Amino acid sequence: MSFQNPVFIPGPTNMPEEIRKACDMATIDHRSPVFGTILNPCLKNVRAVLKSRSAEIFLFPSTGTGGWECAIGNTLSPGDRVLVARNGMFSHRWIDMCQRHGLDVEIIETPWGAGLPAERYGEILKADRGHAIRAVLATHNETATGVRSDIGALRRAMDDAGHPALLLVDGVSSIASMDFRFDDWGVDIAVTGSQKGFMMPPGLAILGFSERAMAATATAKLPRTFFDIRDMARGYAANAYPYTPPVGLMNGLKLASDMLLEEGLDNVFARHHRIAEGVRAAVRAWGLGLCALSPDVQSDTVSAVRTPEGFNATDIVTHAAKVYGVALGTGLGELAGRAFRIGHLGSLTDVMMLSGLATIEMCMADLGLNIALGSGVAAAQEHYRSSHAVAALQAA
Ligand SMILES: *Cc1c(COP(=O)(O)O)cnc(C)c1O
Repeated sequence: MSFQNPVFIPGPTNMPEEIRKACDMATIDHRSPVFGTILNPCLKNVRAVLKSRSAEIFLFPSTGTGGWECAIGNTLSPGDRVLVARNGMFSHRWIDMCQRHGLDVEIIETPWGAGLPAERYGEILKADRGHAIRAVLATHNETATGVRSDIGALRRAMDDAGHPALLLVDGVSSIASMDFRFDDWGVDIAVTGSQKGFMMPPGLAILGFSERAMAATATAKLPRTFFDIRDMARGYAANAYPYTPPVGLMNGLKLASDMLLEEGLDNVFARHHRIAEGVRAAVRAWGLGLCALSPDVQSDTVSAVRTPEGFNATDIVTHAAKVYGVALGTGLGELAGRAFRIGHLGSLTDVMMLSGLATIEMCMADLGLNIALGSGVAAAQEHYRSSHAVAALQAA
């Protein structure tokens, strides 16, 4: 264990020192006017990060999982039908939550490694003439497989079917790292947490609600109290909270969202893409493959790397932690032992990423895999050098 090395897990992510400091605050009275000077910039900035003009933003002391519960609890009633594809561990867990809440879950089984099948969603919605399906659930970036799906295509499929279901999107490992377009995609609820793209400690669920999602809260009958956004909205209207807010975390979010907007969302996304492309170049140089089944679905925030048959991928993760003090992600669910994951989101630079790739090479060599030290690092270096050279030429 080292507190100096960066982590390469897909959340929690590395924290910039200034964000850590912003979270470490003296006690304030959250019923004083000071609270509004923290709350309101957070709401405004998060709305901008979601690329929305009008989404209602809600911040709960919770995590992404609590965000899911807030999304379904506020808009659905027991027995409501929801449509959702399962293509990895996170979509699976959301499905499990819906089932435990007594929803009628129609599951589109999808290969792990594939993106969400927009066409299949469309066919099912078209056939649902009575509009029994109340919500369509989608995991934008499946963190277990390193697969990003096309939410715009899903929205078009819903529109082509002329179906009024709400579109609820898990953007926990995409928002603030990869392009997310709340308004353009007609998203009704977006869910994320503080400890991924926002580069913060865990502890906040961050949500955006559309006007339609807000309207659905009036008739939704699933029980809710802590996560009731009607109470939260009343609180916000008075610069307050229905209970004690996590002020330090919110102060961190104010700074984190400022930093993201100052870097520029397009620059943030381009940085993640460049770093991810370097990782993918390294994986190719190692002669290994990704779980993502095609280049168009490769995630810019996490890569799930398949290891050779008969080799336990988790050994790489255990060895990296024990010997080099570096955290990598294990394979989850059906990928346990077959893949390891490299998280490359949040506060990350090319230089940090190269150290992670170098560590992975040492681990693989230590464990007897046929990997030439430096091979993946060199491929990533070439990618980073050439992409900066291109950027410099464009700027000149
Ligand atoms: C991390 C993650 C979650 C769970 O978030 P927690 O903050 O751990 O509750 C949900 N969905 C996706 C896609 C994730 O990456």
